[in-house]
This record gives sequence, C-alpha cells and structure tokens, in this order.
Amino acid sequence: VECLYAYPVFVGTKWQDNAEYAQIAADIQLFLSDLFSSTFRNVLEQYGFFWGNIIAAHFEGAAPAPTLNDPGIAQIVADLHAAGIIPDETTVGKEGIAAHAAIVYLDDTVAFSDDTMSTGPFSLCVAPDLVYGYHWFNTTLRSTPLYYGVVAPMTDACVAGDSNMLPLTQTQRITIVTSHEIAELISDPQPFTGWSVSNGEEEIADICEGQDATITASYPDGTVNTWTVQDIFSLYDFQQGKVPCVIDSGAPAWYPSDRPHLHRPRLAQAQRAGLALPLPATHRIDGKVVRKSNVTHRFARNLMAGLRHAEIHGDIPQLLREMADLLERDTR
Ligand SMILES: [Zn+2]
Repeated sequence: VECLYAYPVFVGTKWQDNAEYAQIAADIQLFLSDLFSSTFRNVLEQYGFFWGNIIAAHFEGAAPAPTLNDPGIAQIVADLHAAGIIPDETTVGKEGIAAHAAIVYLDDTVAFSDDTMSTGPFSLCVAPDLVYGYHWFNTTLRSTPLYYGVVAPMTDACVAGDSNMLPLTQTQRITIVTSHEIAELISDPQPFTGWSVSNGEEEIADICEGQDATITASYPDGTVNTWTVQDIFSLYDFQQGKVPCVIDSGAPAWYPSDRPHLHRPRLAQAQRAGLALPLPATHRIDGKVVRKSNVTHRFARNLMAGLRHAEIHGDIPQLLREMADLLERDTR
C-alpha cells in the first residue's frame, strides 16, 4: 500500500457512552495522526509505503450482533463504503495501491469469533491463543476491494494470562495491536500475497510480536506525544546484519517502477494536508449518520488558526458557500 487513508471505526456502544472508552477513542485518533509522522514510516518505506494519515473516525454504535465474525465485520465496512463514509479504492498504479482502510475497534460489548476464513477458525481475546487483532480484505461486497483491520478491546479480561500485555494500559495495548495490523495491512494487504516469510505464515509484524517500543510525534508548540507500538521487521536491517526488529530504519524507499520519482516532491504536500486532518467524526444515531455540530465548529475554527471567523473577515461563511459550490463542480 502506497497511501493509507485510515478510518478508525468504533463498534460497540461504550465508545460513545462510557467516558473511559470515549477518552481511549480520542487517544486512538491522535495516535493514528502521529504514527506516520514518527519514525515508524521509515521502516515501511522499503515495502513501497509512501504516506498515511487518519482521515476521519466513525462511531457505529451497537454491533449488529453480540458476536461478530469476519463476514459481519466486512459487511459493516462495506456499508460504510456504500454510504460514502469511507471512499472506494482508486488504484494508483501497477504495483502500489491507495487503501481507504477501516481499522475496526471493538469495545468489550462485542465479541469476535470466526470459522469462515481460509487461515482457520479463531476468536479474539480467548486463551490460550490470545489473538488480539487481524487484517483482511474482501473482493465480493463492492466493485473494488475492501481492506480493513480489526482490533480487540484489550481489556484486562481480554489479555488475561499475558504477562507482556497485562502491565500496560488499555490504550498502550490497543496502539501496539494497531501498529501491528497497520504495518501488515500496508505490506501485505491481501494476505499472503505481499511481504511474508516462512511460506507465508508470518508477516512483518508477526516476526517481532511481543517486542514493544515507543515512538514520539513532536508539534511546533513543543508538545511531544509518546506512544507504545511494537517493533516491525526490517528486511534492510536484517540484510545489513543489524537487529531486524525496529521502529526506525535507514532503509532506502522502494518506489513502484511505473513512477519512480513522483514521491519526493509530493511528500511535503502530503505532510501539509495532514495538518487539516482528521475531518470531524461521523456518528450513527437512530440509523442516521451525523456529525456533531460542536466538533464540526471546532474543526472550522482550527482551519482558521483558532481565530473567530468574524475577526478575520465578515464574509467567511459566504466564501465557504462559494468554495463548496466550486468543489462540488470540480470532478477532476
Ligand atoms: Zn500479524
């Protein structure tokens, strides 16, 4: 995956109704903003990755059933694509793709158990296997493939008996699993046709599972966010005889052969675009998808550097209407 447009999709009522979960959901969104501006991206460039960012969160509310399986997850994701909340794919080249990928987060009101997948039956949060997430794809529900990851609630009950996970906070456990699934979704979006080893039994995060590290993201105002992730396998470092499980790498970027030099000038552009993200989250309420007016208002304020629009110019709402009309007509 060359460009990852990440859409955290929160399934389960607690993400909206429980203050602790609401805070974790906010942290996850911030983490997805910070992940790709950290050194983590340097490890993935050798696998053809260029840039990623969170675009917008979606809060789905109650799950359609108390226990979901993979077809259930795929249907939720497909419905979000059908409703235009997550855009369908536009293939950007022969070797690289753009993925508008849902990262589905389950709270502890939702269980997961599946026996439909070609990799064999499994459940999330069930000892002794202790699987915490997976990533997969679907080519039948939409005209273009869907790519998605799934992350378990990572409560104490979910990680019971796991001495590596138990000492960590719920948010730390979730960011670790997220880093694992995103690294693999990028390098092996249709398992196991991309980067994997041992006859496709292990992907680049599996090899380094259980080895955790921290990444940081710095802001111009001096804020530094620190997040716990897991190490990712770097083929380049391995071939150099260095420690292969890393969260930073000097690996040269690998570019799709059909457009080798397109990337560099676009990097600054992509980074600038990230400053306006994420877009205001969507919520499913009484069957309708809505944005919360206070969140949308805050987003508009942020676009104007936190100033009241009337302080900048009295006519900004009218200007925004004209811009909306022009963007709607812009079909290029
Ligand atoms: Zn994995």
